[in-house]
Amino acid sequence: MEYRKLGKTGLPVSALSLGSWVTFGNQIEDSMAEKLMDCAYHNGINFFDNAEAYARGKSEKVMGKIFKKMKWDRDSYLVSSKVFFGSKKESPLQKGLHRKHVMEACEQAIKRLNVDYLDLYFCHRPDPEVPIEETVWMMHTLVMQGKILYWGTSEWSADQITKAHTVAEKHHLVAPSMEQPQYNLLTRNRFEEEYAVLFARYGMGTTIWSPLASGMLSGKYLDAPADETRMSLENLKWLKERWLNNEVALQKVRNLKSIADELGITLAKMSIAWCLKNPNVSTVILGASKLEQLKENLTAMEAVPLLTEEVMKQIDQAVS
Ligand code: NDP
Repeated sequence: MEYRKLGKTGLPVSALSLGSWVTFGNQIEDSMAEKLMDCAYHNGINFFDNAEAYARGKSEKVMGKIFKKMKWDRDSYLVSSKVFFGSKKESPLQKGLHRKHVMEACEQAIKRLNVDYLDLYFCHRPDPEVPIEETVWMMHTLVMQGKILYWGTSEWSADQITKAHTVAEKHHLVAPSMEQPQYNLLTRNRFEEEYAVLFARYGMGTTIWSPLASGMLSGKYLDAPADETRMSLENLKWLKERWLNNEVALQKVRNLKSIADELGITLAKMSIAWCLKNPNVSTVILGASKLEQLKENLTAMEAVPLLTEEVMKQIDQAVS
């Protein structure tokens, strides 16, 4: 496993990490979640990603039980949570980025995850209803209290992140260290263009999500139906609509598949290697519902040297 610094911080994070969206507490059995985490940890993954909203808090509970059972040294792994969507969604007090919810969501996540503090804590989306000063101050306070170590954003615009930095600088507060954006061969613009200024000016780290565009970039939907995959889940019809009814995206996947075939590797491996090749990516968060998927994805680093300048040009053409 390769370890990268989380942006300009001193924190070493494994270049591949494991996330729990859709899977933990929802699509897979807890016993499979345990196998996935055990396999990840023993292959050098040191970061596990979670959020209050995943399966409405259940994903954190499942992960917390596994941490407790595994008894891994707490100083040997990183765990995150994210605040915004809420885990209950009953009242406006129980979601958003106002001081009360940020503080309570953090305490609840710590409890569910069976840890004493969170390593990374993300604002899961921007909250236009709350002054940015309030959120930055609260995140700073949580760092000072030792409840979180690093805070960041997820799917904020470059302007919103810049505002957070400006507030932090003005009041000498801890600024966001990382952003969690979607980044994959089918979703590139924001990361590569809009965020360029954040990498140059603030040294932001990134923990990127959906490296396979929810499995699209494994190529499996080109010739098989979506049965028994996340695309067949009742509550994720919008995701199926976004990807499987998208002929432009499917054509790009076909083009990419021929490049992977020529290289003699799977498309999943090539797609993850392509993310790893970008130096602004601190860690690629993997998702998996089966052990074989995780094992395959863990080999992606081997494919990075195959992505020569020539191959990268072919890939750009394939998705342009
Ligand atoms: P991917 O895009 O890699 O999708 C993972 C899914 O693709 C798996 O669950 C599996 O689904 C399928 N898959 C994985 N590997 C293979 C393979 N080798 N061959 C065939 N199919 C495969 O990542 P996710 O979308 O899961 O995102 C990763 C993590 O990022 C999440 O768990 C979460 O922690 C984070 N995230 C953050 C978001 C944010 O807003 N901050 C939003 C979304 C994710 P299947 O069961 O269908 O086979």
